[in-house]
Amino acid sequence: MHSALTATRRVRWPLPRAARVAGTALASVLALWVLLGHAMHAPWMWRPMPGLPGTHPFTALCLLMLALALVPGKTTGLPRTLARIAVTTALCLVSVRLLVPLTGDGLFAALTPFRGALEAQRQATGHAVAMPFNVAWTLLLLCLGEIARRMRYPLASQLLATAALAMLFVALTGYLGGLSVFKGAMAPWTVAGIASLALALLLATSRRSFMRALTAGSEPGRLARRLLGSTTLVLALGVWLVSRRLEYPGIPLPPDGVLLVYQSAFIIALIWAVVTLVTVRAHRVDRARGIAERLTQRAAHRDALTGLLTRNRMMSLRRSATPAADACGSELLIDLDGFRAVNEAFGPEEGDRVLVEVATRLRAAANGARVGRIGGDEFAIHCADLSAEQAHQLGQAVGRSLARPYEVRGRSFRLAASVGIAHATETAGANLAQAADQAMYVAKARGGNQTVAFAHAMHDLRKQEVELEQDLHQALASDDELWLSFQPVVAVADGKLMAVESLARWRHPRLGAVPPDRFIAMAERKRLIAALGRKLLGLAVEQAAAWERAAPGRWPVINLNVSPAQFAAGDVVAELLALLAQKNLPAGRFCLEVTEGVFADAHAVAALERARRHGFMVAMDDFGVGYSTLAQLPRMPLTSVKLDRSFIVNAGESAGDAAVFRAIVELAHALKLLVVAEGVETQAQFDLAARCGCDGVQGYLIARPMAPQEFDRWTTGARMVPPWLASPVAPPVAQPGHS
Ligand code: C2E
Ligand code: CA
Ligand code: CA
Repeated sequence: MHSALTATRRVRWPLPRAARVAGTALASVLALWVLLGHAMHAPWMWRPMPGLPGTHPFTALCLLMLALALVPGKTTGLPRTLARIAVTTALCLVSVRLLVPLTGDGLFAALTPFRGALEAQRQATGHAVAMPFNVAWTLLLLCLGEIARRMRYPLASQLLATAALAMLFVALTGYLGGLSVFKGAMAPWTVAGIASLALALLLATSRRSFMRALTAGSEPGRLARRLLGSTTLVLALGVWLVSRRLEYPGIPLPPDGVLLVYQSAFIIALIWAVVTLVTVRAHRVDRARGIAERLTQRAAHRDALTGLLTRNRMMSLRRSATPAADACGSELLIDLDGFRAVNEAFGPEEGDRVLVEVATRLRAAANGARVGRIGGDEFAIHCADLSAEQAHQLGQAVGRSLARPYEVRGRSFRLAASVGIAHATETAGANLAQAADQAMYVAKARGGNQTVAFAHAMHDLRKQEVELEQDLHQALASDDELWLSFQPVVAVADGKLMAVESLARWRHPRLGAVPPDRFIAMAERKRLIAALGRKLLGLAVEQAAAWERAAPGRWPVINLNVSPAQFAAGDVVAELLALLAQKNLPAGRFCLEVTEGVFADAHAVAALERARRHGFMVAMDDFGVGYSTLAQLPRMPLTSVKLDRSFIVNAGESAGDAAVFRAIVELAHALKLLVVAEGVETQAQFDLAARCGCDGVQGYLIARPMAPQEFDRWTTGARMVPPWLASPVAPPVAQPGHS
């Protein structure tokens, strides 16, 4: 017993399967041997194991049934049914035996197999072979233990198995001590069979608690092992010695040897039971603590929503990388474009679902590389062993994978991503993550939806941007940093002023003039565009009011640039109407210039339709770059189209492009839209615009954007014979109605 338990110290249990196989094999071999011996009346079969004839065939049958129940196998289907039948049969057989004092042994005898053989044996040996009471109890405990095991009560099952072992201890010491009650009542081989079954049962359930606790490396496990080992050994030795002394007269004996054995067995069982309970508890606490630790660790390492690594984890993994691994590593930083719109349109829950989908796609694309979520809609991939070329391919693959449509509430939509890539060979020792961040930032600045690899020139860009953002905040608060310049749009036919475009300018106190492309794009990214737009519109309306005071009714239509982000950020039309109402100016003197992107947004289109109803004009700016909205043109609430500068440049260079140019002007005219050619820099371009039928032109040839005073001088100056009209021009196309 003791050795079986202490052996677990060296062997790495649990091996429940092996233990069950061993227990089953031993018990069933013994049982079969006994049954066979009785069936064949073959005393020679018992010669190698003289204790065997004492084993009643009833015991053998019960052993066999129990062994069958312990056969390892699936917990479902036929094996389970067989095991159930086996345990039930064993239970019935044992119960019949235990009921003999009440019912008499008629039924027991009737159920006894090989009755003829038993009778013959009784006549030969002079005493009846009956299943002893203590064996019946042991078998009953084992049966119940097996039932408890299958009902997944490991603790109960272990306690029952332990009790069965204690009974066997009684039988063994009784046998060794030659105590009459046990002598010959239970053959040692029966003890072996039952002991192996009890052990197998103990081990089979040990995975969950008892043996696990005893063999675990934890402190309670060690303590329990020591306790069990020493007490069992001392008790077994003591009892055996005392029971031996019964044979020697003259030595004071305990009054009742049998009682002594039972008492000691009881004490052992009690110790086992207490140790089992205590260690199971202690171990459970230990395990709970371990699980809690693992959970907190996981929470720190894994993003709760996507299961990807957290920013901290990515950083600590990067720190712990060897310099060699770092030398060929690459980092990809992925930022979703316009994810905020998804959140706003569908709600944060659906947004989360999209993020989970994004994480899944990234994991698939990363192909085993480390993937982390390092911000709301920012992700990172770290690869240890990719060439710069492969890293770039991975970046493109990620972009393609994220661009596939997403499904939310049965609607499908697309998301784009800006991907920044940094490869160790190109960052020359600089921080990979920072480099990737800079590259990603450049991808964003270029309009997003693209992959950009890090280059050294990007180093300072990010820093500048952060400073610039702060400065823009100040500029918005100050009165003289932001101002408007005005560029005229003139009619091709007679050179008369058709309109004037107001263009934002920023006089930066340190950097000087910051190009509008740059600070407007930045304001859009940093969500400053609503404030900036409001400020610029306010300035334009103020200028209009000043012109109105100076020359009532004789100032040109003012073209106001409104970026798509402004429509998303607030009600531009209402704000503008409020501004005009303050100055008592009519909406009909203003034209909103919007880019094609606006028409992809139903919200913005509705705002523009409202603007048209209030009398504003609407021009499509930069027509011909980016989206191809030609087919949608008829449905847009437009009054004019401004053809992008690239049109006039290309048309001057190829006949094909000139044909396209002409066709588009014709189309716009068919839709009763005015056409303005932008970026006219040369006389040749002016002539081309005139030949193609443009209504107006705008560009450096006419005038550069000018400060208001300069613009005033320009309008009142001696332009009676404009230079661009000096050369002969084809007769102008009939102009569609325009106030
Ligand atoms: P845009 O609306 O296409 O403005 C026309 C741009 O073309 C202006 O650049 C103007 O200076 C430039 N330009 C005019 N004639 C010529 C020419 O003959 N040749 C060349 N190469 N360029 C010419 P600018 O002022 O730098 O403005 C850039 C962009 O910034 C504008 O493009 C517009 O998209 C944006 N923007 C400017 N002001 C505002 C504003 O008040 N609000 C908003 N939302 N955007 C603005
Ligand atoms: Ca414009
Ligand atoms: Ca333009």
